[in-house]
Amino acid sequence: MISTPFARVADQGLSRALAAALRQADRNTDFRSAICRFEDDLFAAFPAGHGLMGYDDAAAMLRDIFDMLGRKPPRLALVAGFDDPRVGGFADVRNHRIAIEKGYLYRFLVLHESAHLIVPEDRRHGPAFTYILQLLYRSFIGIPEEAVRRFLSRHGLPGYTAAATIAA
Ligand SMILES: [Zn+2]
Repeated sequence: MISTPFARVADQGLSRALAAALRQADRNTDFRSAICRFEDDLFAAFPAGHGLMGYDDAAAMLRDIFDMLGRKPPRLALVAGFDDPRVGGFADVRNHRIAIEKGYLYRFLVLHESAHLIVPEDRRHGPAFTYILQLLYRSFIGIPEEAVRRFLSRHGLPGYTAAATIAA
């Protein structure tokens, strides 16, 4: 079995990789809109990210992700919709649940909301969130690291992508 970047980082322990990702990073800017543009742009080039998943496949992917971290997988709920029509998904941290609007079970969206549950403290779509997000996109969509770096840089996002830290 081929080890993915996410699996390697999970194996080493997330906290070390996150500490490296946060070193000298901008932790004050709210990157939400830049992340949206980055995702639109990235998945125009790599349409697999915009692929729709079946409920069981999405739930299985969540189990894979959270098992690797030794955490309980979140519940996946398909909901009628959100007050803000631009929102298709929501990471409900308090209830450890991911809510996705019916018909919007996009692979990238499940991964995006997973990243929120993995680093709930980074509410600004900042360097910790972006680091986890790009690991998930590389590991579960197959985006090459070089492409992820290019698109992150194009949208002015935190660019740390290393999946292996130097052994202590
Ligand atoms: Zn988000």
